Amino acid sequence: MTSLKAPPSAPLVQTGTSSWCADCDGRPSERITAFPAGNTRADLLAERAAAAHGHGAHVHFVPRGDLFAVVVPVVAAQ
Ligand SMILES: [Zn+2]
Repeated sequence: MTSLKAPPSAPLVQTGTSSWCADCDGRPSERITAFPAGNTRADLLAERAAAAHGHGAHVHFVPRGDLFAVVVPVVAAQ
């Protein structure tokens, strides 16, 4: 749930992702693929792609571009 009323003194600043993601928890993520939301099944296709990929892959909705993006968190190599 996002607030529709932002104070005028606080312009919307968007970084890599459009909304906070608990899976990413502020970490950068790498986009694997994306499905245009114009496809009514895009969210389902994106979820399946994320599940098939594994490694923490999950779906972000990207309002800019109207996409369901499949991303994996970028983690430091061991
Ligand atoms: Zn995420």
